[in-house]
Amino acid sequence: MRTQVGIIGAGPAGLLLARILQVHGIESVVLEGRSRDHVLARIRAGVLEQGTVDTLNEYGVGERLMHEGIPHAEMQLRWAGRRHALPLVDETNRRMTTYGQAKVVQDLIDLREADHLPLLFDAPVESLEDVNSDRPRIRFAHDGQQRTLECDFIAGCDGFHGVSRQYIPDAEEKSALREYPYGWFGVLVEAAPNPEIRGFAHTTRGAAVCSARSKTIGRLYLQVDPNENLDAWSDDDIWNELDLRMQDGSNNRLNRGRILQRDFARLRAFVCESMRFGRLCIAGDAAHIVPPSGAKGLNLAVGDVRVLAEALRRFLTKGDTDLIDRYSEICLRRIWHSVHWSCLLTDAIHMAPGQSRFDTQMQYEALQHWVYTEIGRKHFVSSMLGLPYEV
Ligand SMILES: Cc1cc2nc3c(=O)[nH]c(=O)nc-3n(C[C@H](O)[C@H](O)[C@H](O)COP(=O)(O)OP(=O)(O)OC[C@H]3O[C@@H](n4cnc5c(N)ncnc54)[C@H](O)[C@@H]3O)c2cc1C
Repeated sequence: MRTQVGIIGAGPAGLLLARILQVHGIESVVLEGRSRDHVLARIRAGVLEQGTVDTLNEYGVGERLMHEGIPHAEMQLRWAGRRHALPLVDETNRRMTTYGQAKVVQDLIDLREADHLPLLFDAPVESLEDVNSDRPRIRFAHDGQQRTLECDFIAGCDGFHGVSRQYIPDAEEKSALREYPYGWFGVLVEAAPNPEIRGFAHTTRGAAVCSARSKTIGRLYLQVDPNENLDAWSDDDIWNELDLRMQDGSNNRLNRGRILQRDFARLRAFVCESMRFGRLCIAGDAAHIVPPSGAKGLNLAVGDVRVLAEALRRFLTKGDTDLIDRYSEICLRRIWHSVHWSCLLTDAIHMAPGQSRFDTQMQYEALQHWVYTEIGRKHFVSSMLGLPYEV
């Protein structure tokens, strides 16, 4: 097999890259290690920056998003048992939109399949060869056979645990990691989200987060110890704990419903500053992970892909290497900005093990600053809405 761009991974990064390249007349093959059903059932992100919404529209993937996406004008923060709200729209009317990652992925897959373009599921990539030559190759398994895809360029969009990062020789030495001593116990629920109970709650029992995936599906999280036995939690235990952590002195309570899915994510921040070697670039979670508090992971993947698609277009159609040579540098400005914000927010709303009253008071001060000072509100809103794209 041969193509211009071999894309590893059919997550948001890989699929969107394939779509943008297609619009620019560049061929690609997407290789996905897992099955189609598995990829479509994965529930993860759900809050899109305006830049992500605009990108999906610009490349013809925004039709369902325009009908089903839920734009937000406000964000709620709770601390010390009280609710506080701050507007989440800037002067140019940019805002956040709720639209599940599973839907973004489905829209991209549907479009690619409708266009009869190559997207292979159950095709795990095993190794890469000659990435520093002008004929890099991808070795993968498919239909019980070992196969090879020869490319002009390889895009490693295979997530944090993928194979591509290891083919960048200085990736490890140019990586930075922070691990948090807690995680998020997430549930997807069949219950209409109560608009009065949304956003983040800081409590001495640990943080809680209430968000929506649609008008009838809620996505809720509880901060837990990574060693917590989550199987021991009954559905009622989860609802009771969420109600306790989200209480704000009013009679408002979460609408309860069937818990459709439970999962756990350890919170960490990771950045690999070396995102390119020869004819290989990595994008999205393959290059960076943010704690989910800032809702940045999927949006950062979209930011990388925009730069990468343009860099590949210039390189493959004009032989211009300027942008591809600056790929890491351009992406890293956005990445570190989002990582910094996600970590600030994470530190402000979670209870660290052994946290003192002093530490808690410092968190209240940070939260007060964001909600009740003009400069703090500006910082909060612009950080949540994300930096504009450079390319
Ligand atoms: C609990 C949770 C909540 C989150 N909430 C948000 C949020 O609100 N907003 C936000 O923006 N982000 C959020 N994120 C992060 C977001 O989900 C990720 O940043 C996003 O999925 C990154 O997309 P990606 O395409 O880079 O990687 P992935 O979605 O991980 O896709 C990588 C793909 O590569 C495939 N793959 C891996 N190895 C191989 C191989 N060897 N061969 C072939 N294929 C391979 C994988 O199967 C996968 O399909 C959240 C994440 C979690 C865990």
